[in-house]
Amino acid sequence: LISKFSKITDLDNIKKSLAEIEQSLEKGGGNIKEGIEGCIGDTPLIKIKSLSEATGCDILAKAEFLNGAGNSPKDRVALSIIQMAEEKGLLIPHSGDTIYEGTVGSTGISLAAICRARGYKAHICMPNDMAIEKSDLLLKLGAEVERVRPAPIVDQNQFVNLARTRAKEHTDSPDKPGRGLFADQFETEANWRAHFTGTGPEIYEQTGGFLDAFVSGAGTGGTISGVALFLKSKLPDLKVVLADPPGSGLYNRVKYGVMFDPKEREGTRRRHQVDTIVEGIGINRVTHNFEVGRGLIDDAIRVTDEQAIAMARWLVENDGIFVGSSSAVNCVAAAKLAKQLGPGHRIVTLLCDSGARHLSKFWASTEPIGGIENDVSLEKILGS
Ligand code: PMP
Repeated sequence: LISKFSKITDLDNIKKSLAEIEQSLEKGGGNIKEGIEGCIGDTPLIKIKSLSEATGCDILAKAEFLNGAGNSPKDRVALSIIQMAEEKGLLIPHSGDTIYEGTVGSTGISLAAICRARGYKAHICMPNDMAIEKSDLLLKLGAEVERVRPAPIVDQNQFVNLARTRAKEHTDSPDKPGRGLFADQFETEANWRAHFTGTGPEIYEQTGGFLDAFVSGAGTGGTISGVALFLKSKLPDLKVVLADPPGSGLYNRVKYGVMFDPKEREGTRRRHQVDTIVEGIGINRVTHNFEVGRGLIDDAIRVTDEQAIAMARWLVENDGIFVGSSSAVNCVAAAKLAKQLGPGHRIVTLLCDSGARHLSKFWASTEPIGGIENDVSLEKILGS
């Protein structure tokens, strides 16, 4: 066969490469994933070179957008919720069972993809101010989508409450096949457990246990709680830091033990949604998934929209990494923490999803990136 490669001049090199490939093939295959579920977890840990160089710390980011079903950390959670429900006999594939969820998008997308693979239907309730790419994607995956106006949690039509009601209506209806299951990502143990058994141990293994801090935003709180619970069981001195957008009560919860800043009276507490272009993180109520790990969170860092936008541009311009809003917030907080801790520390954070899911909202608010010149300064990003 090789003699037929007549146009190749360096045949010897080609022969050598083929021999090497042959050798590695002999070591055995086994690298076939069992369906789309098999592509969840084991995400790479990437050193963000530009931020590491600029701060003198190792800034490492877990590339959760490379989870292969719905392309976010919510793949882990969706799979965990479905597996637990199947184990309890609450879901039976191809029986018409439908999973209902209230989500700003990512969890819905992960659920919709896994539902397709396992023979369930997905019905997603989401606020109508989230990027349109997410609801478009949900529809293409075959989910039923209800976009509702943003409302406080006490409102029955708030997206999470509505999903709970829809699940009950389904189960109570004699006309609908199967049952309705409310996935309940904010309150279910299946959420933080997915990160306790998956994301946390992966970070520990990938760093060899050498890390000084973990930085993460919180929506449900499942990621920060699950990862903190595992990593602190191994590394009691690890610093766990919440990255939080303005208007979210979680920063105050960590700093002052209450959801509002005592200096601003009840200001933030009454707001039903976090008024920022950042999606997926920042919340104004205490969920089980946040509370379960809150005692392990050592500090919180606020990140403004402007800082997040500047960081998103920085990551494209310097590293070719194209992320969504919550990932940008995480990276700002990681870089700020690096400045606080000083050179020589190792900080791990998360890249949650791709910028492709945020073109119409978060990325639409950035200036066009013209050439390849770097016109975003780290000073601007880290400014207080
Ligand atoms: N990033 C994105 C894009 C999200 O959708 C979410 C959750 N809604 C988070 C981060 C936060 O993760 P968690 O719910 O585990 O706190």
